[in-house]
Amino acid sequence: MSRLAFERETFTAELLDPRRGFERTRMQVEARRDPLTGHSARILPPESFPPPARHDLERLAAATREGCPFCPERIDGETPRFPPELWPEGRIAAGEAVLFPNLVPYAKWSAVSVYSPRRHLLPLAELTPSLVAGNLLAQREFGRAVRAHDPAARWLSVNANHLAPSGSSIFHPHLQGSAHPQPTTMQRLLAELPPGRLRAYLEAERADGARLLASADGVHWLAAFAPLGPAELRAVVEGAGSLHELPEPRIEALARGLAAGLGVYDRLGFQSFNLALYGVPGREVLLLRLVARAYVGAAERSDAMWSERLHWEAATDLAPERVAELARPAFAP
Ligand SMILES: [Zn+2]
Repeated sequence: MSRLAFERETFTAELLDPRRGFERTRMQVEARRDPLTGHSARILPPESFPPPARHDLERLAAATREGCPFCPERIDGETPRFPPELWPEGRIAAGEAVLFPNLVPYAKWSAVSVYSPRRHLLPLAELTPSLVAGNLLAQREFGRAVRAHDPAARWLSVNANHLAPSGSSIFHPHLQGSAHPQPTTMQRLLAELPPGRLRAYLEAERADGARLLASADGVHWLAAFAPLGPAELRAVVEGAGSLHELPEPRIEALARGLAAGLGVYDRLGFQSFNLALYGVPGREVLLLRLVARAYVGAAERSDAMWSERLHWEAATDLAPERVAELARPAFAP
C-alpha cells in the first residue's frame, strides 16, 4: 500500500514590529493539507490568539435551569416522542441517557439525547466514559430503529454542540443524531475516498508517530494533521460505516477516548466542543472528529473567522504535534 504524504509548507511573514521598537521581525506560518479530505489549514505561531475565556458555568446553569425542557421535572411533558412505528415507547433510554426527536428537524430523522436529565450542568471534566457510552448506546438504538423502519435514511451521524460557543441553543448537555437519505458535504467527501484510503491514512500516522495518541479495541485516536478547528482530535473506528453497527465494547472504547479528549480540552482552558461521528454506509469508513470551541479572550471573540467559515481553512495557534504531546498522557492505558 502506498504511503500517504503529509503535505506541509512553511512560509515566513515579515514586518516591522511595534512591540520591538519596529525591529524587522520574521514569523513562521505553516500551511498543511488534510490527507483525507484535502482541506487545508494554517498553523500560526504559538499564542497568536488570547487563551479561551472561562465562563462561570455555575451561574449560567442557575440562570437556565428554570424552564429547562431536559431537566427531570419537565422532560416527560415537554420533549417530543417518536411515532409508535419507529419506537413504541416514544423515547429511547440507555444508562442515564434519554433520547427523543429533535423539535428542530435538521434531517428526515433527528434526535436529541441528553446524557442525563439530572445533569443540567456537565463540565467537560465530568463527562465520564459511562455517561458518554450510555448516550452513544441510545444513539445506536436510534440508528438501528431508523434503519429498520426507513432504510432509505441511511446517512447516519452523531453530533454535538456542547454549550453556547459551539452553537447549542439549550444549556443542558446533549448529543444529536441525524439520519437522512442524502449525505452532508463531509459525508460525501468521505464517500468519495478511494478504497483503503482511511487505512492508508492511519498507517501513515502510525509510521510518523507525532500525532498518534492511542490504539485499543479497534479505535485509533490521533491529533488531526490539518485541523478543522482548535485542537482537533480524531478517532478512526474499525469495522463499521456507522455507529449502529458497532458492538458495545467498541462503543465503550470510543467513550473512554472521548472522555479523555474532553479532559484534555478542559485542561487547555476550553469548556465547549463540537463533535461529529460519521461514516459511509456499507463501507468500513467511520470517523469521529472533535474540535474545541470557546469564546476567546476579554473581547469574547469567536474562534471561527472568515478563514473557517468562508475559505474552509482553519487557522490555529495550537500545533497538532503539541496537542498530541499534551493529550498523550490522558490516553495512556
Ligand atoms: Zn436542564
